[in-house]
Amino acid sequence: MRGAVIHAPGDVRFETLDDPRILKPTDAVIRTAVTCVCGSDLWPWRGLDSTEAAHPMGHEYVGFVEEVGAEVTAVRPGQFVVGSFATSDNTCANCRNGFQSSCLNREFMSTCQAEYVRIPNAQGTLVATAETPDEEFWPGLLAVSDVMGTGWWAADAAEVRPGSTAVVVGDGAVGLCAVIAAKEMGAERIIAMSRHESRQELARQFGATDIVTERGEEGVARIKDLTGGTGADSVLECVGTAQAMQQALYSARPGGNVGFVGVPHEVAVDGQELFFSHVGLRGGPAPVRRYLPDLIDRVLSGRINPGKVFDLTLPLDQVAEGYRAMDERRAVKTLLKP
Ligand SMILES: [Zn+2]
Repeated sequence: MRGAVIHAPGDVRFETLDDPRILKPTDAVIRTAVTCVCGSDLWPWRGLDSTEAAHPMGHEYVGFVEEVGAEVTAVRPGQFVVGSFATSDNTCANCRNGFQSSCLNREFMSTCQAEYVRIPNAQGTLVATAETPDEEFWPGLLAVSDVMGTGWWAADAAEVRPGSTAVVVGDGAVGLCAVIAAKEMGAERIIAMSRHESRQELARQFGATDIVTERGEEGVARIKDLTGGTGADSVLECVGTAQAMQQALYSARPGGNVGFVGVPHEVAVDGQELFFSHVGLRGGPAPVRRYLPDLIDRVLSGRINPGKVFDLTLPLDQVAEGYRAMDERRAVKTLLKP
Protein backbone atom coordinates (compact mmCIF):
# COMPACT_ATOMS: atom_id res chain seq x y z
CA MET A 1 0.00 0.00 0.00
CA ARG A 2 0.99 3.63 -0.16
CA GLY A 3 1.07 6.31 2.53
CA ALA A 4 2.65 9.57 3.70
CA VAL A 5 6.08 9.58 5.33
CA ILE A 6 7.84 12.64 6.74
CA HIS A 7 11.60 12.69 6.19
CA ALA A 8 12.45 16.19 7.36
CA PRO A 9 10.73 19.55 7.78
CA GLY A 10 8.85 20.39 4.59
CA ASP A 11 9.56 16.92 3.17
CA VAL A 12 6.51 14.64 3.20
CA ARG A 13 6.55 11.88 0.56
CA PHE A 14 3.90 9.48 -0.64
CA GLU A 15 5.63 6.11 -0.59
CA THR A 16 5.06 2.39 -0.86
CA LEU A 17 4.89 0.91 2.63
CA ASP A 18 4.30 -2.54 4.10
CA ASP A 19 0.62 -3.46 4.19
CA PRO A 20 -0.61 -3.21 7.79
CA ARG A 21 -1.41 -6.56 9.37
CA ILE A 22 -3.12 -7.78 12.51
CA LEU A 23 -0.33 -7.90 15.10
CA LYS A 24 -2.43 -8.44 18.22
CA PRO A 25 -5.83 -10.13 18.66
CA THR A 26 -7.21 -6.71 19.67
CA ASP A 27 -6.25 -5.08 16.34
CA ALA A 28 -8.28 -4.30 13.26
CA VAL A 29 -7.15 -3.18 9.83
CA ILE A 30 -9.27 -0.66 7.96
CA ARG A 31 -9.29 0.58 4.38
CA THR A 32 -9.23 4.36 4.59
CA ALA A 33 -12.36 6.08 3.28
CA VAL A 34 -10.98 9.59 3.82
CA THR A 35 -8.20 11.04 5.96
CA CYS A 36 -6.75 14.52 6.43
CA VAL A 37 -3.95 16.79 7.60
CA CYS A 38 -4.13 18.10 11.17
CA GLY A 39 -2.90 21.47 12.40
CA SER A 40 -0.63 19.52 14.75
CA ASP A 41 0.98 17.79 11.72
CA LEU A 42 2.37 21.22 10.86
CA TRP A 43 4.66 21.21 13.92
CA PRO A 44 7.07 18.65 12.41
CA TRP A 45 6.45 20.05 8.90
CA ARG A 46 7.67 23.44 10.15
CA GLY A 47 10.55 21.89 12.08
CA LEU A 48 9.11 23.01 15.44
CA ASP A 49 8.88 19.34 16.45
CA SER A 50 12.02 17.43 15.48
CA THR A 51 11.97 14.54 13.00
CA GLU A 52 14.86 12.27 14.02
CA ALA A 53 13.99 9.44 11.67
CA ALA A 54 11.54 9.22 8.77
CA HIS A 55 8.11 8.06 9.95
CA PRO A 56 4.51 7.78 8.71
CA MET A 57 2.02 10.56 9.46
CA GLY A 58 -1.65 11.08 10.22
CA HIS A 59 -4.05 10.33 13.06
CA GLU A 60 -7.52 11.09 11.66
CA TYR A 61 -9.51 8.44 9.85
CA VAL A 62 -12.78 6.90 8.87
CA GLY A 63 -12.85 3.72 6.86
CA PHE A 64 -14.10 0.26 6.13
CA VAL A 65 -13.11 -2.67 8.31
CA GLU A 66 -10.96 -5.09 6.30
CA GLU A 67 -9.95 -7.57 8.96
CA VAL A 68 -10.26 -7.98 12.72
CA GLY A 69 -8.23 -9.82 15.35
CA ALA A 70 -9.64 -12.78 17.27
CA GLU A 71 -10.75 -10.68 20.25
CA VAL A 72 -12.56 -8.01 18.25
CA THR A 73 -16.32 -8.58 18.22
CA ALA A 74 -17.67 -5.01 18.25
CA VAL A 75 -17.05 -4.43 14.54
CA ARG A 76 -16.85 -6.73 11.54
CA PRO A 77 -15.37 -6.62 8.05
CA GLY A 78 -17.24 -4.37 5.64
CA GLN A 79 -18.58 -1.97 8.26
CA PHE A 80 -17.95 1.78 8.07
CA VAL A 81 -16.20 2.88 11.25
CA VAL A 82 -15.19 6.07 13.04
CA GLY A 83 -12.45 6.07 15.66
CA SER A 84 -10.28 8.43 17.64
CA PHE A 85 -6.71 9.62 17.34
CA ALA A 86 -6.12 8.01 20.76
CA THR A 87 -7.03 4.33 20.89
CA SER A 88 -8.56 2.89 24.04
CA ASP A 89 -9.76 -0.46 25.36
CA ASN A 90 -12.85 1.32 26.76
CA THR A 91 -12.81 -1.01 29.78
CA CYS A 92 -10.02 0.18 32.12
CA ALA A 93 -10.66 2.51 35.07
CA ASN A 94 -9.75 5.65 33.15
CA CYS A 95 -11.99 4.65 30.25
CA ARG A 96 -14.87 3.91 32.61
CA ASN A 97 -14.38 7.40 34.06
CA GLY A 98 -14.83 8.81 30.58
CA PHE A 99 -11.19 9.65 29.93
CA GLN A 100 -10.47 7.17 27.16
CA SER A 101 -7.64 9.35 25.88
CA SER A 102 -5.85 8.42 29.13
CA CYS A 103 -6.61 4.71 28.67
CA LEU A 104 -4.11 2.53 30.49
CA ASN A 105 -3.57 0.71 27.18
CA ARG A 106 -3.65 3.82 24.99
CA GLU A 107 -1.77 3.94 21.74
CA PHE A 108 -1.83 7.12 19.68
CA MET A 109 -2.60 6.76 15.99
CA SER A 110 0.22 7.93 13.74
CA THR A 111 -0.05 6.17 10.38
CA CYS A 112 -3.44 7.30 9.03
CA GLN A 113 -2.44 9.25 5.92
CA ALA A 114 -2.35 5.93 4.11
CA GLU A 115 -4.54 3.58 2.09
CA TYR A 116 -4.82 1.05 4.94
CA VAL A 117 -4.38 1.50 8.68
CA ARG A 118 -3.89 -0.85 11.62
CA ILE A 119 -6.09 0.17 14.56
CA PRO A 120 -4.87 -1.07 17.96
CA ASN A 121 -7.51 -1.55 20.71
CA ALA A 122 -10.09 -1.83 17.94
CA GLN A 123 -12.77 -3.29 20.20
CA GLY A 124 -12.88 -0.20 22.39
CA THR A 125 -11.90 2.38 19.80
CA LEU A 126 -14.01 1.85 16.70
CA VAL A 127 -17.68 2.74 16.41
CA ALA A 128 -19.54 1.38 13.38
CA THR A 129 -22.37 3.27 11.74
CA ALA A 130 -25.63 1.34 11.23
CA GLU A 131 -25.07 1.37 7.47
CA THR A 132 -22.53 2.87 5.12
CA PRO A 133 -23.20 6.62 5.20
CA ASP A 134 -23.54 8.63 2.00
CA GLU A 135 -20.24 10.07 0.91
CA GLU A 136 -21.44 13.60 1.71
CA PHE A 137 -21.26 12.67 5.42
CA TRP A 138 -17.71 11.32 5.33
CA PRO A 139 -15.99 14.70 5.92
CA GLY A 140 -18.21 15.40 8.95
CA LEU A 141 -17.55 11.95 10.40
CA LEU A 142 -13.84 12.36 9.74
CA ALA A 143 -13.95 15.65 11.66
CA VAL A 144 -15.58 13.80 14.56
CA SER A 145 -12.51 11.51 14.83
CA ASP A 146 -10.41 14.46 15.96
CA VAL A 147 -11.20 18.16 15.48
CA MET A 148 -14.92 18.01 16.27
CA GLY A 149 -14.31 15.69 19.23
CA THR A 150 -11.59 18.04 20.42
CA GLY A 151 -13.77 21.14 20.03
CA TRP A 152 -16.47 19.32 22.00
CA TRP A 153 -14.00 18.54 24.75
CA ALA A 154 -12.92 22.21 24.85
CA ALA A 155 -16.54 23.23 25.47
CA ASP A 156 -17.09 20.40 27.94
CA ALA A 157 -13.88 21.18 29.88
CA ALA A 158 -14.77 24.90 29.93
CA GLU A 159 -18.23 23.91 31.26
CA VAL A 160 -20.31 25.73 28.64
CA ARG A 161 -23.88 25.96 29.93
CA PRO A 162 -27.19 27.02 28.36
CA GLY A 163 -27.45 30.81 28.30
CA SER A 164 -23.77 31.37 29.01
CA THR A 165 -21.09 33.35 27.21
CA ALA A 166 -18.26 31.46 25.55
CA VAL A 167 -15.07 32.79 23.97
CA VAL A 168 -13.18 30.67 21.43
CA VAL A 169 -9.48 31.43 21.06
CA GLY A 170 -8.21 30.12 17.73
CA ASP A 171 -9.85 29.95 14.31
CA GLY A 172 -8.28 26.75 13.03
CA ALA A 173 -10.39 23.66 12.47
CA VAL A 174 -10.56 22.86 16.20
CA GLY A 175 -11.55 26.42 17.11
CA LEU A 176 -14.27 26.40 14.47
CA CYS A 177 -15.56 23.05 15.75
CA ALA A 178 -15.45 24.48 19.29
CA VAL A 179 -17.90 27.13 18.10
CA ILE A 180 -20.24 24.33 16.97
CA ALA A 181 -19.87 22.64 20.35
CA ALA A 182 -20.56 25.83 22.33
CA LYS A 183 -23.68 26.40 20.25
CA GLU A 184 -24.89 22.83 20.72
CA MET A 185 -24.35 23.13 24.47
CA GLY A 186 -26.58 26.19 24.53
CA ALA A 187 -24.20 29.15 24.85
CA GLU A 188 -26.17 32.29 24.12
CA ARG A 189 -23.22 34.41 23.16
CA ILE A 190 -20.24 32.94 21.34
CA ILE A 191 -17.30 35.24 20.72
CA ALA A 192 -14.82 33.94 18.15
CA MET A 193 -11.34 35.46 18.11
CA SER A 194 -10.25 35.49 14.48
CA ARG A 195 -8.48 37.77 12.04
CA HIS A 196 -9.22 35.84 8.86
CA GLU A 197 -12.31 36.79 6.95
CA SER A 198 -13.15 33.37 5.52
CA ARG A 199 -12.76 31.79 8.96
CA GLN A 200 -14.87 34.50 10.57
CA GLU A 201 -17.57 33.71 8.05
CA LEU A 202 -17.48 30.01 8.88
CA ALA A 203 -17.46 30.79 12.61
CA ARG A 204 -20.64 32.84 12.08
CA GLN A 205 -22.25 29.99 10.14
CA PHE A 206 -21.40 27.67 13.02
CA GLY A 207 -23.01 29.98 15.60
CA ALA A 208 -20.56 32.72 16.59
CA THR A 209 -22.46 35.87 17.59
CA ASP A 210 -19.44 38.20 17.84
CA ILE A 211 -16.00 38.33 16.25
CA VAL A 212 -12.99 39.85 17.96
CA THR A 213 -10.02 40.54 15.70
CA GLU A 214 -7.69 41.99 18.33
CA ARG A 215 -5.12 39.82 20.07
CA GLY A 216 -3.11 39.98 23.28
CA GLU A 217 -4.01 42.71 25.74
CA GLU A 218 -6.24 44.44 23.22
CA GLY A 219 -8.10 41.22 22.61
CA VAL A 220 -8.64 40.72 26.33
CA ALA A 221 -9.86 44.31 26.64
CA ARG A 222 -12.41 43.69 23.86
CA ILE A 223 -13.67 40.56 25.63
CA LYS A 224 -14.04 42.50 28.87
CA ASP A 225 -15.97 45.22 26.98
CA LEU A 226 -18.33 42.60 25.60
CA THR A 227 -18.89 40.88 28.95
CA GLY A 228 -19.74 43.72 31.31
CA GLY A 229 -16.13 44.16 32.39
CA THR A 230 -15.68 40.78 34.07
CA GLY A 231 -14.84 38.25 31.34
CA ALA A 232 -16.58 35.22 29.89
CA ASP A 233 -18.11 32.23 31.66
CA SER A 234 -16.19 29.81 29.45
CA VAL A 235 -13.09 30.20 27.32
CA LEU A 236 -12.09 27.53 24.81
CA GLU A 237 -8.35 27.68 24.06
CA CYS A 238 -7.74 25.90 20.77
CA VAL A 239 -4.22 26.97 19.76
CA GLY A 240 -1.58 25.88 22.25
CA THR A 241 0.77 28.88 22.21
CA ALA A 242 1.79 30.94 25.23
CA GLN A 243 -0.04 33.99 23.85
CA ALA A 244 -3.27 32.06 23.27
CA MET A 245 -3.21 30.61 26.79
CA GLN A 246 -2.61 34.04 28.34
CA GLN A 247 -5.43 35.47 26.30
CA ALA A 248 -7.70 32.64 27.42
CA LEU A 249 -6.89 32.93 31.12
CA TYR A 250 -7.34 36.71 31.14
CA SER A 251 -10.61 36.47 29.18
CA ALA A 252 -12.40 34.26 31.73
CA ARG A 253 -14.36 35.80 34.58
CA PRO A 254 -13.67 34.90 38.21
CA GLY A 255 -15.48 31.59 38.66
CA GLY A 256 -15.26 30.93 34.92
CA ASN A 257 -13.47 28.08 33.21
CA VAL A 258 -10.84 27.65 30.53
CA GLY A 259 -10.78 24.45 28.48
CA PHE A 260 -7.45 24.11 26.71
CA VAL A 261 -7.08 21.64 23.89
CA GLY A 262 -4.30 23.05 21.72
CA VAL A 263 -1.18 20.94 22.34
CA PRO A 264 0.91 23.36 24.44
CA HIS A 265 4.17 24.56 22.99
CA GLU A 266 6.20 26.59 25.51
CA VAL A 267 3.12 27.46 27.55
CA ALA A 268 3.75 28.38 31.20
CA VAL A 269 1.07 29.30 33.70
CA ASP A 270 1.93 31.53 36.64
CA GLY A 271 0.70 29.91 39.86
CA GLN A 272 0.01 33.15 41.68
CA GLU A 273 -1.88 34.64 38.74
CA LEU A 274 -3.96 31.50 38.41
CA PHE A 275 -4.64 31.52 42.15
CA PHE A 276 -5.97 35.06 42.22
CA SER A 277 -7.87 34.73 38.93
CA HIS A 278 -10.39 32.26 40.38
CA VAL A 279 -10.42 30.62 36.97
CA GLY A 280 -10.79 26.84 36.55
CA LEU A 281 -8.38 25.25 34.10
CA ARG A 282 -8.73 21.86 32.46
CA GLY A 283 -7.40 20.44 29.22
CA GLY A 284 -5.59 17.59 27.60
CA PRO A 285 -6.09 15.25 24.68
CA ALA A 286 -9.82 14.97 24.02
CA PRO A 287 -11.64 11.82 25.20
CA VAL A 288 -13.15 11.58 21.71
CA ARG A 289 -14.32 8.01 22.27
CA ARG A 290 -16.74 9.19 24.98
CA TYR A 291 -18.39 11.56 22.50
CA LEU A 292 -18.35 9.37 19.37
CA PRO A 293 -21.87 7.88 19.45
CA ASP A 294 -23.47 11.26 20.16
CA LEU A 295 -21.39 13.20 17.63
CA ILE A 296 -21.92 10.56 14.91
CA ASP A 297 -25.67 10.94 15.47
CA ARG A 298 -25.50 14.71 15.27
CA VAL A 299 -23.61 14.51 11.97
CA LEU A 300 -25.79 11.82 10.39
CA SER A 301 -29.00 13.60 11.43
CA GLY A 302 -27.69 16.76 9.74
CA ARG A 303 -27.81 18.72 12.98
CA ILE A 304 -24.15 19.72 12.71
CA ASN A 305 -21.78 19.79 9.75
CA PRO A 306 -18.21 20.03 10.98
CA GLY A 307 -17.12 18.71 7.58
CA LYS A 308 -17.26 22.33 6.41
CA VAL A 309 -13.85 22.91 7.99
CA PHE A 310 -12.35 21.05 5.03
CA ASP A 311 -11.82 23.71 2.40
CA LEU A 312 -9.37 21.78 0.26
CA THR A 313 -9.79 18.23 -1.06
CA LEU A 314 -6.87 16.41 -2.67
CA PRO A 315 -6.09 12.89 -3.78
CA LEU A 316 -4.03 11.18 -1.08
CA ASP A 317 -0.99 11.03 -3.37
CA GLN A 318 -0.84 14.85 -3.22
CA VAL A 319 -0.55 14.81 0.56
CA ALA A 320 2.54 17.09 0.53
CA GLU A 321 0.55 19.81 -1.22
CA GLY A 322 -2.07 19.40 1.51
CA TYR A 323 0.55 20.24 4.13
CA ARG A 324 1.90 23.14 2.08
CA ALA A 325 -1.54 24.69 1.60
CA MET A 326 -2.23 24.60 5.33
CA ASP A 327 1.24 25.86 6.22
CA GLU A 328 0.77 28.81 3.88
CA ARG A 329 -2.74 29.33 5.25
CA ARG A 330 -4.29 28.79 1.83
CA ALA A 331 -6.43 26.10 3.48
CA VAL A 332 -7.96 25.65 6.93
CA LYS A 333 -7.85 21.86 6.62
CA THR A 334 -7.04 19.44 3.83
CA LEU A 335 -9.17 16.37 3.16
CA LEU A 336 -7.34 13.48 1.49
CA LYS A 337 -9.01 10.84 -0.67
CA PRO A 338 -7.26 7.53 -1.33
ZN1 LIG B 1 -8.86 2.05 28.91
